[in-house]
Amino acid sequence: MNLTEFNQGFPYLYETHLHTKEGSACARDTAEELVKVYKEAGYTGIMVTDHFYRGNTAVDRNCSWEDWVEAYCRGYENAKKAGDKLGLQVFFGWEESYQGTDFLVYGLGKEWLVKHPELREVTIEEQYELVHQAGGMVIQAHPYREASYIPEIRLFPNAVDGVEVRNASHFGRSLREDGVSMFDVQAMEYAKKHNLPCTGGSDIHCTKLLYGGMAFPRKLEDVQDYRKAVLGREGLPMDYRAIRESMKMM
Ligand SMILES: [Zn+2]
Ligand SMILES: [Zn+2]
Repeated sequence: MNLTEFNQGFPYLYETHLHTKEGSACARDTAEELVKVYKEAGYTGIMVTDHFYRGNTAVDRNCSWEDWVEAYCRGYENAKKAGDKLGLQVFFGWEESYQGTDFLVYGLGKEWLVKHPELREVTIEEQYELVHQAGGMVIQAHPYREASYIPEIRLFPNAVDGVEVRNASHFGRSLREDGVSMFDVQAMEYAKKHNLPCTGGSDIHCTKLLYGGMAFPRKLEDVQDYRKAVLGREGLPMDYRAIRESMKMM
């Protein structure tokens, strides 16, 4: 199946929300294995966004900040190596968790992280300030997801640059009559109300693809270009549901 058929005029597909075994305690497959399946499926690139310090990190917190960051970045670095070999772009990001309220951060890298150990303690508003001053972007991940690890839905329209409105791991969950996840429907309404840019991603934890992500009309240069393209509303969140429904019929 050709995924770009579902995204006419937007042939460049990017996974924006991905967990590797190296960085995330709940992920099952390695960065290298993930790169392979995304390349085979026809994506142009992936962004590795492992669970960060206050999330379900795979890295022991009982070490220096510098060592922690070094180990944390391994998932991305392994993916980058594999991607360079196979011809899949790989960008860096992270997903931080504030007691079940999750944020995806893009546009900054390892060197910046090493210089900012205060990330371990900042509030959601301080995170936004800090990331912004440095030229990064903050997206609230799956704001309306209901799950055992999320005690309450909390929204921060003034401390984000955008909203993840389509999260492919919501497939089949909390469905509206037409089969669309209410978690996504509510996120879309929320983004619209605050006029915030929208993103889509899979939140993938293993090599079984969920077909989420962002589709763009042009190839992106790097993660800063991704930031520009999201803020400039150049892309579309991928309709993972349409893709998966049509696969079932084949
Ligand atoms: Zn996880
Ligand atoms: Zn995630």
